[in-house]
Amino acid sequence: MSHRNHKRTQEARRSRFPRFSELDHCSGDRDKVRYRDKKMAIQFLHSFQNKAAVQIVELGHTNRKECRVYQCGTCKGWHTTSQRDWVLGA
Ligand SMILES: [Zn+2]
Repeated sequence: MSHRNHKRTQEARRSRFPRFSELDHCSGDRDKVRYRDKKMAIQFLHSFQNKAAVQIVELGHTNRKECRVYQCGTCKGWHTTSQRDWVLGA
């Protein structure tokens, strides 16, 4: 029985950008995807907006309406929202 200790570095597999399916969810709203920080939230927001632009060109409409990011008071993570005029904690 040969036991190979071939170590493959985990760091290399860990891309700087996680897959959408690997992301956590908000502890207060399980439907919301939680981003670790603002930078990550904005990167995803931009990718959503790119998809939206493609959908509009190809289909004439889009179901992607995310337009901004905000920090969540419940999970302390970041979320994207489609609400343009949301008011900061009343
Ligand atoms: Zn949250």
